[in-house]
Amino acid sequence: MITLRSKREIDKMYVAGQLVREAHRQVSQLIKPGVTTAALDQVIDDLFAEAGAIPLFKGVPGKVPFPAATCISVNDEVVHGIPGQRILKEGDIVSVDTGAKLGGWCGDSAWTYAVGQISDQAQKLLDVTERALQIAIELMPEKKRWSQVASQMQAEVESAGFSVITSLVGHGIGTTMHELPQVPNYDSKEFRAKGDFDLRPGIVIAVEPMVAVGRQDLYLHKDGWTLSTKDHSLTAHFEHTLALTSSGVRILTGEDPGS
Ligand code: MG
Ligand code: MG
Repeated sequence: MITLRSKREIDKMYVAGQLVREAHRQVSQLIKPGVTTAALDQVIDDLFAEAGAIPLFKGVPGKVPFPAATCISVNDEVVHGIPGQRILKEGDIVSVDTGAKLGGWCGDSAWTYAVGQISDQAQKLLDVTERALQIAIELMPEKKRWSQVASQMQAEVESAGFSVITSLVGHGIGTTMHELPQVPNYDSKEFRAKGDFDLRPGIVIAVEPMVAVGRQDLYLHKDGWTLSTKDHSLTAHFEHTLALTSSGVRILTGEDPGS
């Protein structure tokens, strides 16, 4: 069952989403060589606490409960990196993924940032992955089924020579962070047969393309959380919480001209 949200509910989700947007705005200003990933997490943790919001990632069950308000994943780490004493270096790319619940509603957004000057290939990876997300935003009001959007996102990534990481997908979002449907960043016969869904006004989904420069195969670190590419190729992750309405897409965690 996919829950459709009313305009009033989407307005409330926008408030939660804008707090997550503010978290990214603050963290983006701090990212530079020499800063630790723990310092980035602290800023977001403090912001959520001050706003009276619940950090959605903290305490998520696993081998150990996730200990932080953000997942911070560097270079070949795709997602679920645990913030700590790692110091960012010139040329790194750092993915910051965070979510908050405010007033009973959730927002979830990820962005990959450049640390100082990065390689041309790293920049191309950021551009292509962000464009895959942008394609989703543009096509959601036009297409009937999610698979039609996902196939265009996949084409964007693969035409650049990169790989879509298919073992991780986006999700419905509302009063909890992870709701139905699953929202893959690729199209397949199996998905069309089993998981595809109509793009109807009121649907709210977190769309989050994850892309590797090399092969998409991943391994789990001993910490029980961090996922990296087996070939250690660079990865990027861009995510917005998006609401489809009768007048278009509202970017709940971003700049939203529709609000
Ligand atoms: Mg996220
Ligand atoms: Mg998400």
